[in-house]
Amino acid sequence: MKPFYIYFILLLALITSCKEDQNTNSIKDLPKIAIAGLGIESSTFSPALTTEEAFHAKVGDSVFTRYPFLQPDSLNRKRAKWVPTLVGKSLPGGTVTREAYELLVTKSLKLLEENKPYDGLFFDIHGAMSVVGLDDPEGDLIMRIREVIGDDVLISTSMDLHGNVSERLAKHTDLITAYRMAPHEDAIESKKRAVTNLIDRLESGKGKPAFKAWVPVPILLPGEKTSTRLNLAKVFMQKYLPWQTKKG
Ligand SMILES: [Zn+2]
Repeated sequence: MKPFYIYFILLLALITSCKEDQNTNSIKDLPKIAIAGLGIESSTFSPALTTEEAFHAKVGDSVFTRYPFLQPDSLNRKRAKWVPTLVGKSLPGGTVTREAYELLVTKSLKLLEENKPYDGLFFDIHGAMSVVGLDDPEGDLIMRIREVIGDDVLISTSMDLHGNVSERLAKHTDLITAYRMAPHEDAIESKKRAVTNLIDRLESGKGKPAFKAWVPVPILLPGEKTSTRLNLAKVFMQKYLPWQTKKG
């Protein structure tokens, strides 16, 4: 099992209310936003390897089935021109084979290439993936996505709160938000927050935050103590959340 480090990234000027801009959207072009991502919680102690089928990859419009907040009649669906590419999510399992990872990444990048340019990208990961022979898979994935879509595109990431925020992931994402509950009871709420933050900043014209800081907090907890129902993690989140939700 990977050690359960809790990393937090500080993003300044992250959440801004942009309601006043929505009225003017009817006369503007809607932002074009891609969706991509891979997610698994890997146990490197398991002798089993995870293959491509385990990710049950959704491609194209079927990606929307993963997100109740992006159904056809939802507000967020109407606020952008969406380009769902490939989103694969596996149940927790062993290390991902390099072949599976490369296959899924290659398909994702091809779809991103075919439909670019974009204004934004929703990067949907879990943040705890291990791949044979590859350090920091999520950092590798977002870097390769950047190479295709360019540095100007606003990327908003959602992930699990125990996921690893590497320096490379922090560098390439513009916005990031994590589940606030362990177990993952607020996964959908967190993904919705990532999407809403992204659209708000595109609509308002604020775009990328002016500053961001990457501050690893070296806390090591045994897995069974990371639950936010228990005191240590619960108290930590109670202290952290009021700060995180401050308006930028
Ligand atoms: Zn998890």
